Amino acid sequence: MQDMEHEQVVFCQDPASGLQAIIAIHNTTLGPALGGTRLWPYKTHGEAVVDALRLSRGMTYKAAISGLNLGGGKAVIIADPANKSEMLWRRYGKFVDSLGGKYITAEDVNTSARDMEFIALETKSVTGVPEYMGGSGDPSPFTAYGVFVGMKAAAKKRWGNDNLEGKTVLVQGVGHVGQYLVGHLVEAGATVKVSDIKDANLQKVKADFPAVTIVDNDTIFDQDMDIYAPCALGATVNEESLSKLKASIIAGAANNQLADENVQGPKLIEKGILYVPDFLINAGGLINVAAELETYNVDRVKGNVEKIYDRTLEIFALSEREQLHTQQAAMRIAQQRIDDIGKVHSRM
Ligand code: NAD
Repeated sequence: MQDMEHEQVVFCQDPASGLQAIIAIHNTTLGPALGGTRLWPYKTHGEAVVDALRLSRGMTYKAAISGLNLGGGKAVIIADPANKSEMLWRRYGKFVDSLGGKYITAEDVNTSARDMEFIALETKSVTGVPEYMGGSGDPSPFTAYGVFVGMKAAAKKRWGNDNLEGKTVLVQGVGHVGQYLVGHLVEAGATVKVSDIKDANLQKVKADFPAVTIVDNDTIFDQDMDIYAPCALGATVNEESLSKLKASIIAGAANNQLADENVQGPKLIEKGILYVPDFLINAGGLINVAAELETYNVDRVKGNVEKIYDRTLEIFALSEREQLHTQQAAMRIAQQRIDDIGKVHSRM
């Protein structure tokens, strides 16, 4: 908590439902801490705490760079995904409610809109509830749209215009976000290559967009491509992949794409690869769930997601001006906003 400057970490336990949860509130300078609840069979409590601390800090910067009036938080539940129950969610909802609105939850890994529906029976501090309950439904289309917009901004910087026609884009992971991203890219006239470890997901994308080429997941970094779009898991930008990667741009949805930002950040600049910071480009889903806190309006959400374009260009400009790598530049802008608005809030 001291190292990462967290405000509050709450441990929740309820033997009757089997609930063991950790809610980490990193920073509420800009507003209540919004972040999903991840359900995972962590082997130790220590592992779970570290994940909650790390993820909640990431949410602070994601909300700040996206211009949202929200802070950063995240919760983890230590459980087997097979053991989810109404009782567990409602007990968890009561714990979330006990924080008095300081933490607002949403979906994350192994949690669904249906689970949020149970939580919503016990607290108002929940977003990502189903559309039939007045919620915004699946955030993935907005995440994908944000990635597309950020990718176009990177193209503008690299090639002088943001037309993706004829550019080769490799999308790694065609799950919820990846499949929508492929749709935007095909429509924009890009040549799209896809890889995944689940054959069913590859076949679905191929059926929807016959022009895509499926490539072997083990050979992705040997492929020719202009843009690499990691949409599966984190840390795929590492020493090994960078030694082979032929792309000019990296722009994808995955969280924590750089294995170590202090190593790969400068290395990307050295290799002339333009990297769009993950916590900016994948914020479309957060922007969408945040809109549920006001009267939900899909056009407003789309407009806010489109701001990722200018923000991406702003980051590239700062990176060049101050000789920072792009992840550093994005962090600088996010922290500056937290500091500035913190001063606004401290005045009468
Ligand atoms: P998902 O689980 O629906 O899709 C991930 C896809 O990647 C799956 O098809 C899976 O089979 C594939 N995959 C897993 N391991 C792989 C590997 N080693 N190589 C290739 N493919 C692999 O997840 P999603 O919701 O589409 O999210 C994708 C990424 O974007 C995740 O890292 C997620 O944290 C991040 N993200 C998602 C959202 C959102 O709105 N869903 C928002 C922000 C960030």
